[in-house]
Amino acid sequence: MEFDAGISRRAAMERLIHAFRKAGIDEAAYDARLLLCAAAQIDHSSLIRDPDEPLGDLAAVRLDRYASRRLAREPVTRILASRGFWSLDIAVEPDVLDPRPDSETLIDAALKYMGERQDEALRIADLGSGSGALVCALLDVFQKSEGLAVDISPHACNLTSRNLRQCGFQNRARVWHGDWRNLDAARFDLIVSNPPYIPSADIATLDPEVRNHDPRLALDGGADGLDAFRSLAEVLQRLLGPAGIAIVEFGIGQTEPVTRLFEAGGLEPSGVFCDLAGIERALVLKRSH
Ligand code: GLN
Repeated sequence: MEFDAGISRRAAMERLIHAFRKAGIDEAAYDARLLLCAAAQIDHSSLIRDPDEPLGDLAAVRLDRYASRRLAREPVTRILASRGFWSLDIAVEPDVLDPRPDSETLIDAALKYMGERQDEALRIADLGSGSGALVCALLDVFQKSEGLAVDISPHACNLTSRNLRQCGFQNRARVWHGDWRNLDAARFDLIVSNPPYIPSADIATLDPEVRNHDPRLALDGGADGLDAFRSLAEVLQRLLGPAGIAIVEFGIGQTEPVTRLFEAGGLEPSGVFCDLAGIERALVLKRSH
């Protein structure tokens, strides 16, 4: 897609949106806005304020490249190597899941359950931290808390560390590389996890943005999609403090089986939260004593 340096920001947006819609891209206008703002190195308010400003040489070249990549169904996050999550900018690399707005449901649930404990030095763990989006958002919300991020992927551990540093949280967090089943017993106040939960056979049917760009390790939940929940159910009880809660993300249609697995692991389901599309997405668990 070629853009003339003299084209206005508004006209460039219109062209992008039209091309993205034609290619069957769901969030055409949102993606167009993110790519145009990144190409022109402006923020959204500047786009709204000065829509008639010409794009300029460099931005036109950049936008041309970004648009072609998006039309080839590469997600915006992968093109820009970052994603806005909660109130933070999170760096994203190819080896980790693109943090989704769906996962912000877990932060919302944490606030609903722990909101009145924002002044406490809570101990927080993120099991399968990936980019580190969840642990970073929680450390931002609970400003006196300390976090432990765990991931089996060394790439994810490195990126979580980088995001913790970039957010200024390196003094309040540790990153541990390994399998969460090998963690020593602990007394966390809050444990979050967005584990892989897609049934292996379904991965080939997902959108190209997901199937071709999210790492399999972060998606594949085994034959029935529930493997990671089985393994979390083995450990949550011994990692939670007496009044601690765990908040776990799961996929569409998994509320019942996931709830049953955790009940069998000695945990008590305490609430289910929906994502912005109204799909049940997060389960809150307590220790059953
Ligand atoms: N939410 C992602 C999707 O639907 C999957 C992430 C995961 O398996 N944790 O594509």
